[in-house]
Amino acid sequence: MYTRISREGGRDAGRFVQRWGILLIAGVLLCGAWSYLIVSFSEQKQRLLDERQRELTQLNSAVAFQSAGLLKLAETHLRTLDRFLQANPRTNPRTDPHFVALADMLRKSSNGLIELRMVSVEGKLFYIPPPEGKSSGDVSDKAYFRAQFAAAGRNLYLGEPVLSRVSGKWGIPISWRLEAPVSGMLVMFAGIELEHLFGVYDKLRLKPAATITLISDKGIVLSRSPLDPAVIGKNVSATSGFAREYGAKPRGAFISDGALSEGVSRVVSYERLRDYPVTVLVTEDVQEVLAPYHERRNLTLTISAGVTVALLLLAFFLQRFLRTVNAAQKDLELAARIDSLTGTLSRRSFLDIGAREFSRAHRYERPTVVLALDIDHFKKVNDTYGHAKGDAVLRECTAAWLTVLREQDFLGRLGGEEFSAILPETGLDGAWRVADRLRQVTAKLRFAGEYAEFGVTVSIGMATITAADHQLSHVMERADKALYLAKKQGRNRVETVEPPAVLVMPEMALAWAGGTA
Ligand code: GH3
Ligand code: MG
Ligand code: MG
Repeated sequence: MYTRISREGGRDAGRFVQRWGILLIAGVLLCGAWSYLIVSFSEQKQRLLDERQRELTQLNSAVAFQSAGLLKLAETHLRTLDRFLQANPRTNPRTDPHFVALADMLRKSSNGLIELRMVSVEGKLFYIPPPEGKSSGDVSDKAYFRAQFAAAGRNLYLGEPVLSRVSGKWGIPISWRLEAPVSGMLVMFAGIELEHLFGVYDKLRLKPAATITLISDKGIVLSRSPLDPAVIGKNVSATSGFAREYGAKPRGAFISDGALSEGVSRVVSYERLRDYPVTVLVTEDVQEVLAPYHERRNLTLTISAGVTVALLLLAFFLQRFLRTVNAAQKDLELAARIDSLTGTLSRRSFLDIGAREFSRAHRYERPTVVLALDIDHFKKVNDTYGHAKGDAVLRECTAAWLTVLREQDFLGRLGGEEFSAILPETGLDGAWRVADRLRQVTAKLRFAGEYAEFGVTVSIGMATITAADHQLSHVMERADKALYLAKKQGRNRVETVEPPAVLVMPEMALAWAGGTA
């Protein structure tokens, strides 16, 4: 019946796309955009760290070069004083003006960075010249003095940083044992004051974040610029940075876990001096390095989040709008397909379906009958009981007809009180039985009139699709002719104009005789 035109299955995927498609596409696009953003963030971050590591390595080379030069200068000073004393073994270095002048000249050549002292065989420290000729204290307990006894042969000793008892300042001691004691003096000693050293480094340092640190091969922090007294002299040989990096390799760069810098992670570049047991570290706070990146990232994230929310909202409303439009379109389609008064097929969709059925019947030579139905004297119903009652009659007639027709039949309203039905897989004799039942159920209907009940009858014309028909209209025309015949013969009848060969005359005649009122 007409219900067959209801939407066919297999369109679930299409419905899903209509319901969620836009949101889904927006979601996939946004996921892609965010993945790209996250990947590019991590690349940017890495690039920035790599770049800064390269810069620090360059700075590191410069600082290492400068530090090695300074140590070389101190060594040269010590060797020069030794040579002078060995050449003049009878001089008293405490008082000899030539010796004092030489030491003074050497000090000036280092811009005051290197202080020169001497230590007697008993471990007494003397400035050059000693103030009032007196010792400035006992250093026999100091490592830089004792090391010169322990060492096999003469060598340069680079000591741990010491806080001067005289000046109260930090310095790195470098000691040198004379070839032979001269006037009771055994050890020459050069002190590099950290304060002066920082002055040199500060010119090189990437301010304000970079630090420059000197660490001995034993893992002792010799100096740190800017000065951090808490770190000077500290042993860092147990840290992972020392174990894996600057204690193990001549040069490199890495990201520290912050063992040297109050837990602050730092970018570190290091280089061990070739001739001295010292490694120079140049470091910068990772957070400082990444500050511009973080700023840019946060801005991008904020904007992206805003755009994401806006896009999702837009997709959501667009989807909702699309759903509404779709539903409205479906309503319209349904309205075009279904006659609003009777619920039967509209003229247009009846003709569409009819054309399809026609070609099917034609191609496979399946018996198919077309009925033309027209309610008798319907004008009178309208005139007598009013148009609204007429409408009710149309509704009830079609409802009654639908109880007679089969699931595979089609019923359509062609206009006014004229209807047509297609009965697939039905021969003329079978169709006649159906048509006559339609006629009978119509005649049995009772309607409430103003004063009394009334009934209506229907006239029906039948035609079957034949090989000679080329389109639906051909067979419909014959059904109309038969309907006209039924009207002419007195109405409330079923008629056909098909040639006698296709008719089952006796049966029909018999039934008509019994069925006609
Ligand atoms: P006949 O037996 O020859 O078919 O006579 P008839 O009066 O039924 O035929 P006619 O075609 O002259 O009249 C049809 C009438 O149907 C005319 C029109 O007022 C009425 N009609 C057409 N459409 C509608 C409708 O939708 N509702 C109602 N109530 N009446 C309609
Ligand atoms: Mg009529
Ligand atoms: Mg009519």
